[in-house]
Amino acid sequence: MEECIFCKIVAGTIPSRKVYEDERVLAFDDIHPMAPVHVIIIPKRHWATLMDVDSAGMADLQAMMAAGQEVARLKKVDQRGFRVVINCNKEGGQVVWHLHMHLLGGLRLKDGLA
Ligand code: AMP
Ligand code: ZN
Repeated sequence: MEECIFCKIVAGTIPSRKVYEDERVLAFDDIHPMAPVHVIIIPKRHWATLMDVDSAGMADLQAMMAAGQEVARLKKVDQRGFRVVINCNKEGGQVVWHLHMHLLGGLRLKDGLA
């Protein structure tokens, strides 16, 4: 985990623009935003991918979704609308190997996956 960039953000050794935090979850602005609102929501516990989360870890996924609701309210896209995405493994487009959820909003998102 020492080399994991998102674990370093949790530890505070790499800076981030924090949006929300609770005991399980941290949310911060994406460093290369793809939309006016682009927040990364991560569990503080390290899971490499969505597929690595075990039954005990499902509480982290629940906390990430609840954090998504709160982030949407904080960023004022809760009524306008937004999208949450988890990229998993190579063909899913994952590049950071610490489970994370993107929350995108602030514009009319296009349909389509690629
Ligand atoms: P993914 O393709 O789902 O693995 O997306 C990883 C995301 O993390 C990308 O949108 C990156 O811009 C974002 N990212 C990488 N490093 C940082 C960082 N230090 N702070 C904020 N966002 C980051
Ligand atoms: Zn990590």
